[in-house]
Amino acid sequence: MKRILVTGGAGFIGSHLCERLVKEGNDVICLDNFYTGSKENVWHLLGKHNFEIVRHDVCQPYWAEVDEIYNLACPASPVYYQTDPIQTTKTSVFGAYHMLGLARRTKCKILQTSTSEVYGDPNVHPQPESYWGNVNTIGLRSCYDEGKRCAETMFFDYHRLHGVRIKVIRIFNTYGPRMAENDGRVVSNFIMQALRNEDITIYGDGTQTRSFQYVSDLIEGMIRMMESGDDFLGPVNIGNPGEFSMLELAEKVIEKTGSKSKIVFKPLPSDDPKMRRPDITLAKSKLDWEPKVKLDEGLEKTIEYFKTKL
Ligand code: NAD
Ligand code: UDP
Repeated sequence: MKRILVTGGAGFIGSHLCERLVKEGNDVICLDNFYTGSKENVWHLLGKHNFEIVRHDVCQPYWAEVDEIYNLACPASPVYYQTDPIQTTKTSVFGAYHMLGLARRTKCKILQTSTSEVYGDPNVHPQPESYWGNVNTIGLRSCYDEGKRCAETMFFDYHRLHGVRIKVIRIFNTYGPRMAENDGRVVSNFIMQALRNEDITIYGDGTQTRSFQYVSDLIEGMIRMMESGDDFLGPVNIGNPGEFSMLELAEKVIEKTGSKSKIVFKPLPSDDPKMRRPDITLAKSKLDWEPKVKLDEGLEKTIEYFKTKL
């Protein structure tokens, strides 16, 4: 049995990760300040002897004897990470600093959940890990993109300087049950709008693309990465290469929900990437991992979940 710290454990992805780690018999500490996460996401784990919640902000140091750390704490939806951009940068950078300090002291492995946003509005398509990205340093998305880039830098410097056992994954757009229904990301927005027969809001002309990964595929990738040998640090892309325009996504959601919603077009937010698709060659070869859940199947499961939220 390992003692595992999951920061951001009460969020969308964190709650699925905690669930899996608890099920496998690990002793799990879920650390969260509930900025975008909620106790409700981990309610079902609360009575278990091998699960505990700690209310804490990763901008402050935290100490515990642990064998592994998964560092997820950070708002991920543009609406939320832009609400208090200074707090977003602090969470990414100070959070990484404090967790790396803990990993150094306890000599444990630490996995950072970086993001496809480190590629910015990419000029290379699909994006391999070797691409350095095209990121605006002073725009509205920069607090998140640059915060995550700086965290990656700090991870590699702690490894080079102090021998910390790091793992870095770059997650591409992920969706599934327990996304907050008001979280502002495209999958939850479209599904909630369709279920309520409200207008579906496409930002821009809807030709921008994303590659959507179902959450169970991501969790499998995260665990494989943590369990891989100490010689493989990453960064490694974890995402589903299936690429769809926002217009295609809206049409799929309308069809699957049988909704009467109409599509409406709203202004495109600044620096919104025009396309995104992971090159997952590295994950396939190093982790023997590739996603299993197709968008149609994942959307159906997610729609069933959001129906319970109406
Ligand atoms: P989420 O907003 O549901 O979860 C983030 C969690 O972190 C929440 O529970 C929130 O309360 C907590 N948190 C935020 N600031 C904190 C702080 N200062 N101290 C402690 N806890 C704090 O988002 P998510 O989709 O579950 O994302 C989890 C991680 O994965 C994030 O680091 C995100 O950047 C990364 N990621 C997610 C995606 C995606 O598509 N969902 C893509 C790329 C990367
Ligand atoms: N988007 C949209 N309508 C919405 C929410 C988002 O058209 O109601 C677009 C958004 O402009 C972006 C894409 O969907 O081009 C994905 O947005 P999301 O916020 O989910 O993730 P990110 O931009 O961080 O990949």
